[in-house]
Amino acid sequence: MKHRILPILLALALLLSACNLLPEAGAKPRAVSESSIWAMDTQMDLRLYGDAEGACMQRLTALLNELDHTLSATAEDSDLTALNRSGWTDNPHILRLAEEALAVSEETGGALDVTLLPVSRAWGFSTGSYGVVPAAELEALRDNVGMDKLTLQPGVGLSIPAGTALDFGALAKGYAADLCRAELEEADCAGILSLGGNIQTVGTKPDGSDWVIGVQDPDDPGHYLLTLGLTGSRAAVTSGDYQRYFMEDGVRYCHIIDPGTLAPVRGSLRAVTVIADSGLRADALSTALFVLGREAGEALRRSRGDFETVWIEADGRVWVSPGLAERVLEGSYEVTQP
Ligand code: ADP
Ligand code: MG
Repeated sequence: MKHRILPILLALALLLSACNLLPEAGAKPRAVSESSIWAMDTQMDLRLYGDAEGACMQRLTALLNELDHTLSATAEDSDLTALNRSGWTDNPHILRLAEEALAVSEETGGALDVTLLPVSRAWGFSTGSYGVVPAAELEALRDNVGMDKLTLQPGVGLSIPAGTALDFGALAKGYAADLCRAELEEADCAGILSLGGNIQTVGTKPDGSDWVIGVQDPDDPGHYLLTLGLTGSRAAVTSGDYQRYFMEDGVRYCHIIDPGTLAPVRGSLRAVTVIADSGLRADALSTALFVLGREAGEALRRSRGDFETVWIEADGRVWVSPGLAERVLEGSYEVTQP
């Protein structure tokens, strides 16, 4: 009973709280439509512009609900739960997510690992029974963990062995943002979406001004440490230790697991934001970079060159990658090595 009511109360509280998007500056344009929905276990705020914005809003809502139904790791009747039970799926959304997860895992030396579901459950994430897990219990889970458990035949099917269970929480919202973006571009609508903190901008605002996005202060998420001006269609995705965590003996245990230790990531990093053209890539990278930390994460950024970063360290310092520095509108920061 407790577990059923709590998420509903949480959802209501978040729906009643302020929208996650920064307020519109100046007069509101005529053809603008705003909506907040609850999907994929989070609040989603959508603001759309354009002649077809009402119809677009309906299509986006339907799409997000469909993805929720497909990709939920907790719903009894989702396609992902069916895969976790039967060991096989040909669902195209899941195949695409598995393909990207394998690629980013490879790129980041295994920092992204979608087989950690039994591990995060053991720590209490998604069950609500939080607590430090004894090392022996973690080691016993290791047999079922690792990206080598996935056998993907692109466009055909994905299989996993019995005992392994997948969770695409690290990249599903970014994938959803990419699909929303495609819908909006098709209908010639512009917009800005916040899918549980994953920001996706699409097209150009009717007045031609930049999209303004904020990077939250981990100690006071209602306050922004930086604001950035972005142009065109971009994804800005944050992973941090301040949204989902529990405290025990004064230690913060966050929801992002280090695949090496099978324990919540502990280090000097509070949050990382990744900005890229693709929401799916930005989301997968944000989680992996949170595991890697700033030094290794910046080395990857320099070698790839297709994303930008904002790092918030526990000492309060904010680091911005060189390509993003000119986009900062407000806030103090230091620039990482080019
Ligand atoms: P959020 O979904 O809260 O915006 P992330 O994109 O960083 O944040 O995803 C975190 C989620 O990904 C966790 O809640 C968990 O479901 C899953 N996860 C945790 N650690 C890892 C990891 N190392 N690799 C892949 N997925 C992870
Ligand atoms: Mg992510």
